[in-house]
Amino acid sequence: MAKTTKYLIVGAGISGLALANFLDSDDYLILEREPEIGGWCKTIVKEGFVWDFSGHFFHFRDPEIEAYLRARMPTDDEVVTVVRDSRIYYQGTELDFPFQKNIHQLPHDEFIECLYDLYFREEHLETLKDEVDLTSFKGMLYEKFGRGIAEKFLIPYNEKLYACDLDLLDREAMGRFFPHANMAEILRNMRNPDNRSYNSTFTYPKQGAIMYVNALAKDIPEDNLLLNTGLQSIDLASKTATTTSGEEIQFEHLVSSAPFDKLLNMTALPYQQEDFTYNKVLVFNLGFDKKGPEGVHWTYFPDRDMRFYRVGFYDNILNTPRMSLYIEIGYPADGEPDVDAERARVLKDLERAGIIDGHNLVAEHNIVLDPAYVHITERSRAEFARLTDILSTAGVYSIGRYGGWTYCSIEDNILEARALARRFNAVEEA
Ligand SMILES: Cc1cc2nc3c(=O)[nH]c(=O)nc-3n(C[C@H](O)[C@H](O)[C@H](O)COP(=O)(O)OP(=O)(O)OC[C@H]3O[C@@H](n4cnc5c(N)ncnc54)[C@H](O)[C@@H]3O)c2cc1C
Repeated sequence: MAKTTKYLIVGAGISGLALANFLDSDDYLILEREPEIGGWCKTIVKEGFVWDFSGHFFHFRDPEIEAYLRARMPTDDEVVTVVRDSRIYYQGTELDFPFQKNIHQLPHDEFIECLYDLYFREEHLETLKDEVDLTSFKGMLYEKFGRGIAEKFLIPYNEKLYACDLDLLDREAMGRFFPHANMAEILRNMRNPDNRSYNSTFTYPKQGAIMYVNALAKDIPEDNLLLNTGLQSIDLASKTATTTSGEEIQFEHLVSSAPFDKLLNMTALPYQQEDFTYNKVLVFNLGFDKKGPEGVHWTYFPDRDMRFYRVGFYDNILNTPRMSLYIEIGYPADGEPDVDAERARVLKDLERAGIIDGHNLVAEHNIVLDPAYVHITERSRAEFARLTDILSTAGVYSIGRYGGWTYCSIEDNILEARALARRFNAVEEA
């Protein structure tokens, strides 16, 4: 006979664990296909270095969420709060981030070029109309910042990250995570530097992002979590799920944090894969025998001849004596990284950028985040809305960064899961 559960939760990442935390009912079961909880928020500890799957730093907007996590952590002083120092490596020199507010730090002729193009951007748009889709993310970059800023930083950097033509993406693909700046803010910044953005200060647990995951897992009974068990298929009509170990589970509500396209495959609902495209990110975590550049927390690399798009310095965040880096390289979804070749290239480029200089690599780790950034497009938004409507009539909900096919932070994941749990709780109470 099939097992039954009121709430079947797919995935023990931040979203799935958060949902379980906020449900009033104990009648839930979490399926996690991996041997460990955490999803993309896992931490690796090696040779004294603490690394996440990729640099994860936290900018809580809702103090209630941060307090909720901290209250479930071993001690309150386990988390450091840091004032961000992020920089841009641009053709051998360094600028403050964001680029658009710091063009006055460029060489004189490039500064004039960016300023001129910013002021006369509307005239240039007329000539661009036939080349660029002005309703796209790329079009938005030209429209708001002009050719100089767009072509020197915003386009090459984001193309390296998303590993696609930015014409494909929606204008609002990055939502609140895009550092907008208008003409007045750009000019004012030349006199009175103010590079604040959503992550001007951030927090980070000394033992890595997994500490926030563990906080969410703290009160979840062992029997409510099945590790090494994936969801394989869902019969929407009978509300029955089959796991990778062949077990059938009957549910009243199924909440999935698996990537949305993979959830659709499991339900056999027809959809077009080209409506749900995404990239992968190859991450190298590297530990060296001595300190490197001081102060900086992460650096953006727009130059196309530098392999990575971002390098982060855990040692400057945690104030530790040996350089501890994360390095991110964007890949298209069908790209297959040659890890050894990439590693050699990364070390060469770190040397060219002056980050390593006679350093010995003493520990390393790598991971391919697949998916990493989903491509938010007009079609993905419309199809997500249409398909989630159909799924919800069968009691199936898709949440989280990949389940929700969105660009978001872990705080957003927790808020979304809490809102859904509260909806379930209200129905139960009524
Ligand atoms: C490069 C990068 C940097 C980031 N930096 C930050 C940051 O600085 N700050 C921040 O707040 N956020 C950051 N994020 C976002 C953050 O990682 C995500 O918002 C968060 O981890 C998403 O959690 P989730 O539970 O929704 O998804 P996931 O972490 O993907 O968890 C989903 C879980 O579902 C499981 N699963 C999938 N399919 C199945 C199946 N069929 N059956 C059972 N289980 C399944 C997976 O194994 C996984 O454990 C970053 C993301 C990336 C890619």
